[in-house]
Amino acid sequence: MIPQIDLTRQHEGLRAELLDAASRVLASSWFILGPEGQALEAELAALCQASHGVGVNSGTDALLFALKALGVQPGDEVITSAFSFVASGSTIALCGATPVFVDVDPVTLNLDPALVEQAITPRTRAVVPVHLYGQVAAMDALTALARARGLAVIADAAQAVGATYAGRGVGAWGDAVCLSFYPTKNLGGCGDGGMVLTSRDEVAQRVRRLRDHGSLRKYEHPELGHSSRLDELQAAFLRVKLPRLPQWNEARRRLAARYRALLDGLPLTLPVERPPAQHIYHQFTVRSTQREILVRRLADLGVGTAIHYPTILPAQPLFRHREAEAAFPVAARAAREVLSLPCFPELADEEVRAVAAAVRTALSCLS
Ligand SMILES: *Cc1c(COP(=O)(O)O)cnc(C)c1O
Repeated sequence: MIPQIDLTRQHEGLRAELLDAASRVLASSWFILGPEGQALEAELAALCQASHGVGVNSGTDALLFALKALGVQPGDEVITSAFSFVASGSTIALCGATPVFVDVDPVTLNLDPALVEQAITPRTRAVVPVHLYGQVAAMDALTALARARGLAVIADAAQAVGATYAGRGVGAWGDAVCLSFYPTKNLGGCGDGGMVLTSRDEVAQRVRRLRDHGSLRKYEHPELGHSSRLDELQAAFLRVKLPRLPQWNEARRRLAARYRALLDGLPLTLPVERPPAQHIYHQFTVRSTQREILVRRLADLGVGTAIHYPTILPAQPLFRHREAEAAFPVAARAAREVLSLPCFPELADEEVRAVAAAVRTALSCLS
């Protein structure tokens, strides 16, 4: 059996270092807002090329606080992708604002800047591009558009920690850039975690307040806040992994290149890297018009797969968008066709070859 993802392999290799990190924190008994978290914030901000990092307890809260810190409030509209994880849209609604979904580019499945422009109204306050599967969205066009129209850009980089765009780190693109350390992400914790990156001092300050009861000084609460810090244990675990992130992302790119060579010529749409975006293959997601059968055949052949995502966001009951499938045809088609193959840094070359052979077999019985 080749699993779609296997975290055990990574943790086995790092076991001694992770346990050391845990005992360091235990010995200090400093669990919330301490030196590990501060060090991680500085290290990740540097790696991703932003001035500040603010650790919070999930990628979802990173998005929520970034939106609030940039002034999104009830009555505002915020434009985001119709094809993402629910948090890209739900956090907008949690601010009391209205998520305005737009369809995606048929090749990258990221926000299409031309459609974003058409969706702007006098109530639009911000845009939330999602760097889907590890490929940074068209940030040159999106940031230029946002600047021209006075909109904030809050990037959902949950799947793109360590990626670059036009040679600059992902943290340099947007007023705020939100990361997730959910265990399966490229930089995954041993639990939940997230971070807001920003180069705007006042945005960093506001997120620091929002994560800690609206407070920067004990028992002073100038605004309504949350209780959502990245704890010291998670920060210490993440600091063990962080130095490996560049090599892990490189390993994912090598796996993608191998898949590309091995799957060439099959009736399957392969992911496309579109420069100047660099793709770090959080997922290697292919497309097939016969996905359901392919999934079953691959399972029979011992290959795990996953679907990111089977439903477009506006079609979620939560958002109550009528006729969503017709309004977002590109996203709707992607939701029917996408399939993520096993892709994680510890995957062996013989496994990649076995997956590719299984895909070939599965597709040959289809035709
Ligand atoms: C994982 C993810 C999130 C949410 O992150 P959590 O840490 O699980 O809250 C948001 N957006 C996207 C695109 C994600 O993949």
